[in-house]
Amino acid sequence: MEIFDLIVIGGGPAGYLAAERAGHAGLKTMVIEKNEYGGVCLNEGCVPSKTFLNSAKVADYANHAAKYGVKVNGKATIDQKFVVERKNGVVKMLVSGIKAAKAKTGTVTSLRRGTKNSSESAF
Ligand SMILES: Cc1cc2nc3c(=O)[nH]c(=O)nc-3n(C[C@H](O)[C@H](O)[C@H](O)COP(=O)(O)OP(=O)(O)OC[C@H]3O[C@@H](n4cnc5c(N)ncnc54)[C@H](O)[C@@H]3O)c2cc1C
Repeated sequence: MEIFDLIVIGGGPAGYLAAERAGHAGLKTMVIEKNEYGGVCLNEGCVPSKTFLNSAKVADYANHAAKYGVKVNGKATIDQKFVVERKNGVVKMLVSGIKAAKAKTGTVTSLRRGTKNSSESAF
């Protein structure tokens, strides 16, 4: 049986930072996450909402470009499929960044998904 100094339940911003700091301090650390790394902030909250907001801002700027002395031919419209795909790409990039940062500290991850009771190591 593997022994850990610290087990963090939840790989959201609170959990992954705690684990990263503990790893840097030399503690053998494991994070148990039932869904995706990054928690609400990365996967559903802060990051997705900001990518959607940015697309809306760009469309709004384009539709009011004349105010800034910029001529745009036609009306800017939102391509929802593209906007969602872009959001998924940004989330994926940031989640893999967290995994890489944690791997550097030697922190082990156990992903336990839903009720399947399966676990896999992310590293
Ligand atoms: C729409 C929206 C926009 C937001 N925008 C911002 C923003 O701009 N700026 C900002 O600072 N904050 C924002 N927030 C708030 C931010 O998302 C939260 O403050 C942050 O996610 C809290 O982090 P946490 O690690 O405490 O919890 P969470 O992000 O909720 O992470 C908890 C993790 O624990 C896991 N977990 C729970 N129970 C178990 C279990 N029993 N076993 C294993 N794993 C478990 C969950 O799957 C989850 O991954 C926003 C939130 C929302 C909903």
